Amino acid sequence: MTQTSDLPRGGEFRGLVAAVTGGASGIGLATARELAARGAEVCVLDLNADAAPAGLHGFTCDVTDRASVQTAFAAIDQRFGRLDVLVNNAGIGAQGTVEDNDDAEWARVLDVNVTGMARAAAAALPLLRKGVAARAGDASATAAIVNTCSIAATAGLPQRALYSASKGAVLGLTRAMAADHIREGVRVNCVNPGTVDTPWVGRLLDAAADPAAERAALNARQPTGRLVSAEEVAAAVCYLAGPYAGATTGTDLAVDGGMQGLRLRPA
Ligand code: NAD
Repeated sequence: MTQTSDLPRGGEFRGLVAAVTGGASGIGLATARELAARGAEVCVLDLNADAAPAGLHGFTCDVTDRASVQTAFAAIDQRFGRLDVLVNNAGIGAQGTVEDNDDAEWARVLDVNVTGMARAAAAALPLLRKGVAARAGDASATAAIVNTCSIAATAGLPQRALYSASKGAVLGLTRAMAADHIREGVRVNCVNPGTVDTPWVGRLLDAAADPAAERAALNARQPTGRLVSAEEVAAAVCYLAGPYAGATTGTDLAVDGGMQGLRLRPA
């Protein structure tokens, strides 16, 4: 049995290959950087692959297009011959109640947020199995998929019907995939971020009448008094993707400043 004292301290992804969808911005970008800092070769799969930082490998990919996803993973296979970590992170938002979003909007958001994750995972799994096989001498080695879910999956947020439905599906998908693939040595978990200070949230704030006041109000609603940073989510993703989480699969980890678990009275 592996002792945690035997595991590497830092650099735990050295010699491994990771792919991050939506890795050109926000949570995905912070995760791609953190995986690289800890030793991984990191492939950024994004509509906007040109925005991948120097030193990372950019692959243009639209997770709503099966051929585009398959082409990107085929290119990773050709380049590295394996994959050890998939971070399924590409996602888009939607606001409103069920009366506000039409069928086209439902189809578009579910296609990116849910089917997009299934497409990327299906294309990645043969490569993840190669990663597991390549480390056959290491009994504790597993490949990992980490899905970016959201507290919206279970929190009952107002004005987020479609988005919450999409993230609820990601939670179910995570648990089902964990059951399907653990015998192959592939762990599957998700992170549930709260409100994270990314370009996405920046765009929402900029659309408000008074962005500074809106940001102050958003900060005040957090138990911690501030938004979550993308780097804090990235650290949680690296934990779930890495060797310290070798016994963890089918679970979700909140990184939400206490939003979900705490019931604070207004100050
Ligand atoms: P972001 O908008 O900053 O980055 C999203 C990235 O995904 C962009 O680089 C974009 O080009 C890419 N992308 C979008 N559609 C794509 C597609 N079809 N194919 C490939 N790439 C695509 O967003 P973010 O805030 O970093 O959010 C990332 C993930 O985190 C999403 O899944 C989101 O639902 C989730 N999340 C965000 C927050 C938050 O508060 N920011 C909270 C909870 C969950």
